[in-house]
Amino acid sequence: MTQTLIIGAGITGAALALQLSWRGEAVTLVSTHAEGGLASTASFGWLNASYFLSRPHYHLRHEGLAAHRRLTEALPGLPTNWQGCLWYEATGEAQEETASDLQALGYQVQRLTQPEIAERLPALGPIPESALFFPEEGVADPATLARALIGASGAQVIRATVQSVTEEKGRATGVLTDLGPLKASRVILATGTGTPGLLEPFGTTLPMLTRPGLMVTTNPLPPVCPVVLATPDQEVRQDAEGRLRTPASAGHQSDHAETLGSFPVVVNATLTRLRTLFPGHDIHFAHQAMAMRPVPGDGLPVVGQGPLPGLWIAVMHSGATLAPVVAELLAEEITGGAESPLLADFRLARFA
Ligand SMILES: Cc1cc2nc3c(=O)[nH]c(=O)nc-3n(C[C@H](O)[C@H](O)[C@H](O)COP(=O)(O)OP(=O)(O)OC[C@H]3O[C@@H](n4cnc5c(N)ncnc54)[C@H](O)[C@@H]3O)c2cc1C
Repeated sequence: MTQTLIIGAGITGAALALQLSWRGEAVTLVSTHAEGGLASTASFGWLNASYFLSRPHYHLRHEGLAAHRRLTEALPGLPTNWQGCLWYEATGEAQEETASDLQALGYQVQRLTQPEIAERLPALGPIPESALFFPEEGVADPATLARALIGASGAQVIRATVQSVTEEKGRATGVLTDLGPLKASRVILATGTGTPGLLEPFGTTLPMLTRPGLMVTTNPLPPVCPVVLATPDQEVRQDAEGRLRTPASAGHQSDHAETLGSFPVVVNATLTRLRTLFPGHDIHFAHQAMAMRPVPGDGLPVVGQGPLPGLWIAVMHSGATLAPVVAELLAEEITGGAESPLLADFRLARFA
């Protein structure tokens, strides 16, 4: 049996641990942070393929939704909710263009009129003239999901910080941690924003964008938002406890800001927008979570072989959407299966 060390216990490391254990591999997770990870604990958790940067990116994301569904079939009780998304980030002609583009790719899109929107979302204050509904989309809190997947994988978890990947005769042989060395036949870096520092000693540069993300959570409310709601100013969803959960930045998936504004200003502006969306409710701040989003330099995932044999990489934004499919495909490759064409555009070599 091959001993695999997965560094990182967020949604990416967790999904990989499960897929490898399903293939009979012995897996140990090594992580600075507790099971659930880092960016994964501050995520909006919107599972979608309506946002994409390229055609291959769309296809990977779409297969990501299918991979989530395979997980929920295999492991009933996972905290994944297929509530669909009501979207009007763009209006007028731009909205229709989005609908046509997505439909041309085979995505399910329903066009909703103002009365249909009001019927679906009676609590919504300003009702837009039209919106799109994406029934294939859903939500899952990646940290909760990660903990469930790690539990199902049976993987051992070690809380330690990896200082370097060790190498012998040009092959990865394990890692050196703050608790000492760990030997393995292969090492997978699912280390999010921590990845560039671990690749540097091998002369490999992985550029990452600086993308801080802030999630705001409110007090529990009566049911007001049964879908993922994506408006031009705000993306929001309501969790099982009735709390509104929302990224502080509008259109957070394509947000380019390198800094967050001052905390009370940003939070108050977010709450004001929520009060406009759902008038007549006592909406106030409950808590916030901040994390740097792991976004490689061109915004796309980096998945596959690392700079030396025995070292593999899986780093991505939209990891809530992508981790299950990336884990399926990478586990297959790592254990001797074929390289997936779905991953062809997302290799580390593109930064060489
Ligand atoms: C505000 C916000 C909103 C988001 N919204 C969405 C969304 O709506 N949809 C979507 O699909 N994605 C979304 N994302 C992105 C998604 O959450 C991330 O892509 C995903 O969580 C990344 O998971 P990960 O496991 O790769 O990384 P992380 O969760 O960051 O985990 C990295 C792990 O690596 C460990 N680690 C790092 N370095 C070391 C080291 N040297 N030694 C040991 N351990 C180490 C950490 O301790 C941690 O366990 C959002 C992210 C944020 C922050």
